[in-house]
Amino acid sequence: MSRPTNRIWLSPPHMGGGEAAYVKEAFETNWVAPMGPHVDRFEEELAAFVGVKHVAALSSGTAAIHLALIILGVERGDEVLASSFTFSATVNPIVYQGATPVLVDSEPGTWNMCPDLLEEAIRGRLGKGKKPRAIIPVHLYGMPARMDRIMEIAGEHGIPVIEDAAEALGSSYRGRMLGSLGDMAVLSFNGNKIITTSGGGALLSGSGKHIREARFLATQARDEAPHYQHSHIGFNYRMSNVLAGIGRGQMEVIGERIRQRRANNAFYREFLQGVQGIAFQDEPDGDFFSNYWLTAITVDPALGVNPEVIREALERERIDCRPLWKPMHLQPVFTGCPAYVNGVSENLFNRGLCLPSGSGLTPREKAFIRDTLSRVIMNK
Ligand SMILES: *Cc1c(COP(=O)(O)O)cnc(C)c1O
Repeated sequence: MSRPTNRIWLSPPHMGGGEAAYVKEAFETNWVAPMGPHVDRFEEELAAFVGVKHVAALSSGTAAIHLALIILGVERGDEVLASSFTFSATVNPIVYQGATPVLVDSEPGTWNMCPDLLEEAIRGRLGKGKKPRAIIPVHLYGMPARMDRIMEIAGEHGIPVIEDAAEALGSSYRGRMLGSLGDMAVLSFNGNKIITTSGGGALLSGSGKHIREARFLATQARDEAPHYQHSHIGFNYRMSNVLAGIGRGQMEVIGERIRQRRANNAFYREFLQGVQGIAFQDEPDGDFFSNYWLTAITVDPALGVNPEVIREALERERIDCRPLWKPMHLQPVFTGCPAYVNGVSENLFNRGLCLPSGSGLTPREKAFIRDTLSRVIMNK
């Protein structure tokens, strides 16, 4: 099999075709501003798709997490519980607020926040006289966290939950879309996500009050007055109307994108499932539906090939392949943070790989990936 001309990326943008017309419309109507009709429609389309009442389109997922924390009143000296096994953007906004992240490790079934450890962490913090101000569970690579138990534990203690669904648009848990389960939720439309606006994010909530506040804070917190009057510190976090146009085009193909990502996952399972020493991030049972944003595997010593050897061999063929997220409790910048750890995410990090998962992978690219991976695994 000859090598495809272009590099095979992990998760590149995949335009549906309708985006350019929306962008053109923004130009033609001169709605080239951080607000406008595309932003309004994009918010409505997201709300309808996820099944949540209120949405604010923002400049990034990171901005959405930051605003969620501010709306919940997180301040200097507070503590916020978060999944340790995630991308740093989940945790950074806690520090923007001068608060302390308290990191919670994963459970082996979903790779997401372990509810037992969450309980232990809450008890531990309460024992130190600190009530956590919020919980941020992450749906890693699109896999739903065990939301029933997480919401139950959060409810018992009266702690609000912010779902980090940045990677999980289109995933569902017990028939309900992720992003509609927590008190608030965050989506990302960064270039590598399942749909993109090149850069962007959204804050979702059943509470109209929360989302009105998010819009207010995201547009420099202007009081209602003809002159510029401010009683709060604001941010410039709104989504551009031009970029929302891209988002509207992407929403036309979201269903197809989910099918394509899941088809990639099925493709990898078809030729790797039986291989001794390779395991997948699996949906534990019928309650869990992952968009399989990225297909993630673990490689055991039983395979006889080290994951880094696989990654380097794919890299030589210009196939993008990445280690799993390095847990936050192992990151130099968060070493001082309290962490409730069971070894699960560290073990996954040491053994795991994300395989190319773009929704636009061609049959030829897939065949090339399959042949290359098979050669590396068989030639050990
Ligand atoms: C991408 C991502 C974010 C941040 O989103 P941006 O839009 O890139 O700021 C947050 N959390 C997770 C888990 C992500 O993957």
